Amino acid sequence: MATDYYKVLGVDKAANQEEIKKAFRKLAHEHHPDKKTGNIDKFKEINEAYQVLGNTEKRQQYDQYGQTFSGAGSNGGGRPGGNPFAGGQGFGGFGQGGNVNFDFGEMGDLGDIFGSFFGGGAGRGQSARGHDLQAELTIDFKEAVFGVEKMIELNKQIKCANCAGSGAEPGSKINTCSTCGGSGRVVKIQQTILGNFQTQVTCSDCHGTGQKPDKKCGVCRGAGHTRGQEKIKVIIPGGISDGQTVKISGKGDLGERGQAGDLYILVSVTKDKNFVREGDDILTEAHISLKQALLGDKIEIATVEGPISLKIPEGTQSRTQFRLKGKGVTHLRQHGRGDQLVEVIVDIPKSLTRAQRKLVEQLTF
Ligand SMILES: [Zn+2]
Ligand SMILES: [Zn+2]
Repeated sequence: MATDYYKVLGVDKAANQEEIKKAFRKLAHEHHPDKKTGNIDKFKEINEAYQVLGNTEKRQQYDQYGQTFSGAGSNGGGRPGGNPFAGGQGFGGFGQGGNVNFDFGEMGDLGDIFGSFFGGGAGRGQSARGHDLQAELTIDFKEAVFGVEKMIELNKQIKCANCAGSGAEPGSKINTCSTCGGSGRVVKIQQTILGNFQTQVTCSDCHGTGQKPDKKCGVCRGAGHTRGQEKIKVIIPGGISDGQTVKISGKGDLGERGQAGDLYILVSVTKDKNFVREGDDILTEAHISLKQALLGDKIEIATVEGPISLKIPEGTQSRTQFRLKGKGVTHLRQHGRGDQLVEVIVDIPKSLTRAQRKLVEQLTF
């Protein structure tokens, strides 16, 4: 083992158990992740060092072999309830009795799990965030082209109106939560095949606020949020495609301490009878007569902005494509728009009157 545990704790190799414990306490206070000056890596390192040096048997092994052996010796009598994160006032479990007991002993070799446990669970309030929600919204073709604002109404966890989210019955006195000591979190022990894991969970007594009113709000029972309807303004950007999702941060369920999840809006775009989308271009067709094709004309073309006039030059072939610049779909979250492509189809008459036939017969091409 490369780490010098004595160096980590800043003690002499000859230090006695009392000195080691004292050094550990001081450093643990200093680097506790709950503190502004905290450093989770340093804290883990200190912890690991104390796991070994704070235990006579393990320290002996370490001194002799430079490492310890799992399973050799119990780690201080099976009191995994010691709460390294009691935090807040007084750093909880470090009483006079010296019941310092981080039960990470089994996890010495499981750095990754240890790491992810810290990374995922120890951040303040992560578990308290409300749920993400998903809703569906159908818009029409033109709304997708230009973007649109819609109001939707959702049934979700919203701020309790009775207590304005505080969880306290209006007028009630507020005290520090005795269950978590004001930190808002408690440690839960999970038993797994890899040993005991300690994970932080939101204190259910105070819902993570660290405070407890004399009288809980009668409507939300202290949670600060209740189920209810909320009107939410949804801004759909121009250029959105059918099946795309728009994220609205902070509009999911309200969780503990006012932390809301996110809202994901799944957008459906209805088909249009005139317009077909291809990327950011819009494809349309226009039918012209043989006469228009031969002699040229001006025809009216429907665009998403309304009808415009398109000049058909004489001698236009069937299936000729005309490009209407900038009449297409808005580029999503970018400037500019695609084009509208108009495919002109020349309708050849299927039958002629006698008079028409005479005229056509006079044509020399
Ligand atoms: Zn509490
Ligand atoms: Zn309430």
